[in-house]
Order: sequence, then structure tokens, then C-alpha cells
Amino acid sequence: MDLQNFIGGEFKPSLSNDWIDILEPSTGCKFARVPNSSRGDVDLAVSSARSAFPMWAGLESSERADWLDKIGDALESNYDKIATTESRDTGKPITLARQVDANRSVMNFRFFAQMIRERRSETFEMSDAKNFVSYNPVGVGALITPWNLPLYLLSWKVAPAIGMGNTVVCKPSELTPMTANLLMETINSVGLPPGVVNLIHGNGEGAGHDLVAHRDVNLVSFTGGTATGAKVASVAAPHFKKLSLELGGKNSSIVFADCSLEATVSGVTRSAFLNQGQVCLCGSRILVEREIYNDFTNRLVQSVKQLKIGDPGHEETELGALISKDHLMKVMRYVDIAAEEGGEFLTGGHKNMYPQLERRFSDGYWMNPTVISGLSVDSRCSTEEIFGPIVTIHPFDDEEQAIEIANNTNYGLAGSVWTEDLEKGRRVAERIRTGIMWVNTWLHRDLRTPFGGVGDSGIGREGGRWSLDFFSEPLNVCILDKDNQ
Ligand code: NAD
Repeated sequence: MDLQNFIGGEFKPSLSNDWIDILEPSTGCKFARVPNSSRGDVDLAVSSARSAFPMWAGLESSERADWLDKIGDALESNYDKIATTESRDTGKPITLARQVDANRSVMNFRFFAQMIRERRSETFEMSDAKNFVSYNPVGVGALITPWNLPLYLLSWKVAPAIGMGNTVVCKPSELTPMTANLLMETINSVGLPPGVVNLIHGNGEGAGHDLVAHRDVNLVSFTGGTATGAKVASVAAPHFKKLSLELGGKNSSIVFADCSLEATVSGVTRSAFLNQGQVCLCGSRILVEREIYNDFTNRLVQSVKQLKIGDPGHEETELGALISKDHLMKVMRYVDIAAEEGGEFLTGGHKNMYPQLERRFSDGYWMNPTVISGLSVDSRCSTEEIFGPIVTIHPFDDEEQAIEIANNTNYGLAGSVWTEDLEKGRRVAERIRTGIMWVNTWLHRDLRTPFGGVGDSGIGREGGRWSLDFFSEPLNVCILDKDNQ
């Protein structure tokens, strides 16, 4: 299957004759190709978005909200197709693809439709004047997304961006382009005006870079790795493009002795290994109060050993394949590093690296979930983003030490605290230098809340009104009231 770019309401062949193979992570087999788009393709897509901008920006926000609902409804009718496509393209379990990718992509459109309808302009009264704040679209937006939650993250950007009156060019990950293509088919099927949403396929250094650098792109919303984020910022900043960077994470799960043990073991396991540990919010360093360290570690190891790894299409599968051979090699390198750093493998490791699977998966990108103890909290495995099924576990003695350890990485995206003392949970959570903390839960998302990180995890916030703010420019009009002078 050869995918095409979507420009000006049409699927168009790329001007380049260069292709990228799309491989199924569970088998390593090629099943599609995407064009490696050229600068000429990027020019066409940006120019199409630019042409559509005045008409789209001129609509009432309620009309744009109606379009978001139409897209959400059409996506919902493709619910099963989204889930199976996403599971195949990413190697994630089908149940996860349903719950998160299919479900939340539909929700993103509906949620932002409602927020945009409810949004009111603000007024600020002075004794002799009145200020009216309105929110105008920024212009043409570049929306760049990674491979771990392809449609979920793309819809999270497209919905508020076009809802606020911008027109956009999307650049999905070249590793997982299938559901982005499906979204374009959906947008086409509902008859969204041509040029409002465009999409180009291609690699990051080529199409991604050219899109960010394009002089007619006013805004860049980027989700991906920290090193790429730095490159994107260096290209966008000199032109003062509006920029949001949602980057990597290294998040702590802080387990206190007074936690509810069973629920915590299950919650921490999920937080460590959901999507094979390939969620930016995953709790990949587990800090446990010394009093229960041995007991908790034993229970965690049992829980991890019970995770069902295998065919992503099976209902009972809990862990699928990693995204690519390169990524698997990068993650496995941390097993070597952990051994060099003196870690003890409680699950996985060199002797138990690969799961036993059916023969058809022998060329896929598989790895057993790995729990490592005995490493220093400053070790590379404990402070660097691995983004795979590897976690480290460490004891701590008191609240202060737990906070200090949690804050000793350059990242600051998320984290969780597990305790029956909710005051302590909140107190500790509020002292972590990060963007989002959960107490006794994880990945419990209210779409109205801010989402984003600090330090190497990025700049800016999206989510709820923060998305609406990012995808718009506030304009204040101050009117003198002569009668009150
Ligand atoms: P990546 O940085 O390699 O790629 C992300 C996207 O950027 C892809 O579409 C890629 O083609 C594009 N890209 C690459 N180089 C570019 C360049 N020079 N200019 C413009 N675009 C470029 O990231 P990835 O490997 O796809 O995703 C994994 C990373 O994403 C992890 O670090 C993870 O933590 C992070 N992530 C963060 C969040 C968040 O919300 N903070 C969410 C999901 C994933």
C-alpha cells in the first residue's frame, strides 16, 4: 500500500520519487510505503493552508466547532479500523489501541468542539474605559507528532488548532503514518473545506525540518524527543514562531510504606510497562520506602512476570512489540549499560532478553519487561529516558529523600505518589519539579487540565484552555468611555 500526501483536499503523489518502507513491528514485515516528501511538497502544503486561512479564520467559532463534531462522529464510525490499524502500525496490544488511541482520538474532537463553543471573550473594566480581549487565529500551524500514540497525539493538536481558526500542515512520524492517513480520509469524507488540514509524509530531517523552517508557517506544535525538540526550537526561534514543545520524560513512581499494596503494585506495573514503556509519562524509576522495599519489589516482580506478551491482535495480550529495530537496539543497549553500572536483573536482562513467541514473530522487535535493582539513583539507567520496557527500582528513607531523588533528572514531565495519606501525597507531589503528578493513580486524564513539562521535557502547555491559548493570539481592545472621564 502506497500512501500519499493530503494537500488542498486531495490525495496527491509526492514530487519526490523517494519512499520510506513501513514495517510491522511485531513481524518486521513491510506492509506499506510513504513518500519521503521534498521541499516542493512542503511548499505546496503550506501554500494550500495559507490560501484556506482567510475563509476558515472568518467562520464563527461555533461553525468550526460543528466541523470538529462532524470529524469526531466520522472517526467514531471507524473506531474498529482505527484500533486495528494503530495496533498493526505500532505493535501495541489491540485492547490498548481501542481504549487509548481510538477512543481518545474521537474524544479529542468532541472535547475541543465543546470547549470552543463555551469559550467567551473577556472584558476588563476600568473607571474610564473598557478592555475587550478576543482570541484570533495565529495563521498556518505545523503539527509534528511521534510514533507512540500516533492518532491520539495528532487529533490532540488538529482539533484545537483548526477549532481556533488556524489552518494546518501535519507531519506524522514516518514510522507510524497509517492512522494519520485514516484521519485525512475521514476529513475528506466529511467535506471539510480544502486546505484547512493538509498532511505531508516524510522523515524529520527533510520534510519535518522544511516545514518548521517554512517562512509561511506561524506556529509549531511539536511532540517528540528532547534532542529533536532542540533542533526544532533552533529553527523556529529566530523567526519568532509560536512554539510548543512536548518532549521526553523520566518519571518517578514514589511508593510510601502506607500505600494500599495490591492496588499500588498493579498501578506501578501498568505505569512502568504500558505500551511497552513507550509512553512519555511512564513511571520508569520506582522509588520505594525502605520499610516495604523487599516485599514491594518481590510483589512487583511477580506482577511483571505475569504480564502477557505476544500477538498484538489478541484480546488478552498486555505487552506488544517495540516500534523498530533501531529503537529496540537503543533500548537493549541500556541492558548492557545497567550491567556495566552494576545492576541486578530481577526480570529480563541478558539471560532472559527475548520472549518465547510464535515463529511468525521471529523478525519482530520484541523484548521482555526488565526490572533492575541495585543501581545508583544517579546512574544512566535511572536518569536517562530509555522509552522502553526497562525500569529501575530504588529504596528511600523519608519524604525529603524521595523528593530529592525524584528531582534529580533533567526531565520534568510527570510522576506518581502512592500513599493512603492523601495530604502527604499532595504535599510530596507539589514539590516535584514536573508538569503533572498523580496520587494513587496514573494516566488519569481530565482533558481540561494543563499538559506539558519543564526542563528537558519541553516548554509550554497544551490541554483544555491552554491548547486554546496556544493556538490563538489574544488581542486587547481598550475603548475610552467619554461619559466616565
Ligand atoms: P522524534 O523526535 O524522533 O520524532 C518526532 C517527530 O519529529 C517525527 O514526526 C519526526 O519525523 C519529526 N522530526 C525528526 N527530526 C526533525 C527535525 N529536525 N525537524 C522537524 N521534525 C523532525 O521522536 P520519536 O522517536 O518519534 O518519539 C519518541 C519521543 O517522543 C520520546 O522522547 C517521548 O518521550 C516523546 N514523546 C513526548 C510526549 C509528550 O507529550 N511530552 C508524548 C509522546 C512522545
